[in-house]
Amino acid sequence: GSTLEIKDLHVEIEGKEILKGVNLTIKGGEFHAVMGPNGTGKSTLASAVMGHPTYEVTKGEILMDGENVLEMEVDERAKAGLFLAMQYPSEISGVTTSDFLRSSINAHREEGDEIPLMKFIKEMDEAMDYLDMDKNMAQRYLNEGFSGGEKKRNEILQLMLLKPQIGILDEIDSGLDIDALKVVSKGINKLRSESFGCLIITHYQRLLNYVTPDYVHVMMQGRIVKSGGPELVERLEDQGYDWIKQELGIED
Ligand code: ADP
Ligand code: MG
Ligand code: MG
Repeated sequence: GSTLEIKDLHVEIEGKEILKGVNLTIKGGEFHAVMGPNGTGKSTLASAVMGHPTYEVTKGEILMDGENVLEMEVDERAKAGLFLAMQYPSEISGVTTSDFLRSSINAHREEGDEIPLMKFIKEMDEAMDYLDMDKNMAQRYLNEGFSGGEKKRNEILQLMLLKPQIGILDEIDSGLDIDALKVVSKGINKLRSESFGCLIITHYQRLLNYVTPDYVHVMMQGRIVKSGGPELVERLEDQGYDWIKQELGIED
């Protein structure tokens, strides 16, 4: 498995410091959850790791198996084995879901070693069955007119087919009804192996009832202020975040 190391990460958006020194290490086989109030920098962390241009890293390091991720272009980060399922997946008009998936897979392979079409179709069909997805979706334009649940299933479909070393799932549970939540969870759990590490960013406990994290981190005001095991999830659900603020003497 691979190791993603985030060290003392500081990130600014338009000159405003959002992340103020984040430390986090994710290894193959580990599931980490990052929870925290809205506006605290969770999505900023995900975007900075993937190299979104709006997010300027002003200090700190991001390493993938010791390699400097900050020096990599966005596509090189994907090739290095990083994958981000975004909080708001974008629509791509004119590109079908199937074509998008196949070119994403091939972008991660060497030239001349493209996935054979029939093998791709078989893998996609199996994964879509597993996720209870309507096969017609493969021929629709990516995310265009997809419901919230369809978009999130589609992100998990990508994850299952691309098989990244490290997956970052940003609010993959938001806006899902219970059936979609169970399917999405089933997909994430199927990926559990020594060669897959996962960062699950979420605001709520409910996904974590189905996907048990090994480590739970609380982010507040741009920092990870508390880490623990899965028992932390329940305490946050019962008691909210105020007790942590009091413990740390953080003002709103
Ligand atoms: P979370 O995911 O924890 O809800 P975000 O990382 O989305 O938090 O946002 C952290 C802070 O950065 C918020 O104050 C938000 O308004 C600000 N922010 C996020 N993205 C942008 C952006 N593209 N432009 C300006 N401000 C942003
Ligand atoms: Mg948010
Ligand atoms: Mg967010």
